[in-house]
Amino acid sequence: MPNILFAELRQETASFNPFPTKFEMFRQMHGAEILNNYEGTKTEISGFMDVLAERKEIKLVPTVSAASVSGGLIPKDDLNQLLDVIIESIKAAVDANAIDAVYLCLHGAMAGESEDDPEGLLLRKVREVVGTIPLVASIDLHAILTDRMLDLIDVVVPFHTYPHVDQYETGERAARCLLKLLDGGVKPEVVTVKLPLLVRGDELITATGKYGEAIRMCQEIEASETGLSAGVNIGNAFTDVPELRTNVLVVRDNDRNQAQEDAEKIASFMWEHRELFRAELISVEQSIGVAQSNPGLTVFSDAADATASGASGDSNAILKALVASEFNGRCLVPIVDQPAVEQAVAAGEGARIQVALGGTLDPARFQPLELEVEVLRLYDGHFAYENGLPGFGGRIAVVRQHNIDVLIVERSLFFVGQQVFASHGCDPAEYRIVVVKSPNGFRPYYDSIASAICAVDVVGSTSANLPSLPYKKVARPIFPLDDVQLEL
Ligand SMILES: [Zn+2]
Repeated sequence: MPNILFAELRQETASFNPFPTKFEMFRQMHGAEILNNYEGTKTEISGFMDVLAERKEIKLVPTVSAASVSGGLIPKDDLNQLLDVIIESIKAAVDANAIDAVYLCLHGAMAGESEDDPEGLLLRKVREVVGTIPLVASIDLHAILTDRMLDLIDVVVPFHTYPHVDQYETGERAARCLLKLLDGGVKPEVVTVKLPLLVRGDELITATGKYGEAIRMCQEIEASETGLSAGVNIGNAFTDVPELRTNVLVVRDNDRNQAQEDAEKIASFMWEHRELFRAELISVEQSIGVAQSNPGLTVFSDAADATASGASGDSNAILKALVASEFNGRCLVPIVDQPAVEQAVAAGEGARIQVALGGTLDPARFQPLELEVEVLRLYDGHFAYENGLPGFGGRIAVVRQHNIDVLIVERSLFFVGQQVFASHGCDPAEYRIVVVKSPNGFRPYYDSIASAICAVDVVGSTSANLPSLPYKKVARPIFPLDDVQLEL
């Protein structure tokens, strides 16, 4: 009876967010709790579990799932504590069971204050415990694929969609690769082509953009006889580490030459179209103009303070502009601001209070905005995202200033879908402007109700205006920070 061990570690780090991601910010699940919580969800682990359930002889050995909302660099002690929890659990599982293969569900774009490749470090520690048995890892397409990770994983399986809607399918693909390795007779040849390229913008949307064409080439490779896995990992542009870049990955069974040829072809395609992969942003004033001339809902994408990309979430840049503008349609703005929630809770529902909103985490970028607001509603902060997973924003307050409702949370959340608002009495469809802190991931949730979308150009630690960010570690030259000459 083959035993397959699995673990999960997910966080996306934004190096320019000054607020660190601490150990206690990782939501942990252990053992059977992971199976129970993930069953029936649209996640990698659920897809993985469903494929393996087809093989009755296989026993799953769940260990630890640790995941945090995106955020700043992970301090050294916190990272060590986190990896220790995972490794101790894996050691205990290996002591209790004869493990035949390992699946790791990773995000792949973590960074520590003193560790540029936390996933690579985890993999090294896992290998020390499990040895050379088959090991498959699924990763986000924003993962930073390091040489160390590639050395230690037999087959890497990246997402194929942006915005990400194929988490479940990625888990299924990873499980099928793992089964092939477990059944034997497969020799994965892993080839990557490294591109000095950082990408943003709408052409990344895989359903409609140029990047989608590259992904479809990858899917053809996977569908071919020797294809095991293929993808284009674009890295998270805000994780400032030496190996941040775009990687084309092709894994074929026992056919290195073909894998190399495929990877080079896709890399050339990406490089040829690099000028398309820049974000087109418009000013907040222009964005308000769009909303004014638009009777329906206009979604403002605050990619610069995208908590989904690792920003601090305490930007009040758009809020300031809305307060100062003549626009009087209903607006909904989320913000992370612990002291303001504290104040709202102390005053109670129905109270009118004077609050300073914004700039509590990233004060160098955002100065507090003084507002007089009415406290509409208070919540304990527990809710469920669209994918069925739990969200926890600490305590939450909904406050109102004239036409503007502000959802204030104590702890960072994904302000991507509608549920984060709807669960707190704010139905996005009832507003003229909704601010999401997400560059593109919000689209599947808003396409059906939004009549316009504005990518707003404001300051922030995850600005799509990449040359505006203070990069220190990424290997240079890299496009679009530098003029790069490349022979492919
Ligand atoms: Zn991603």
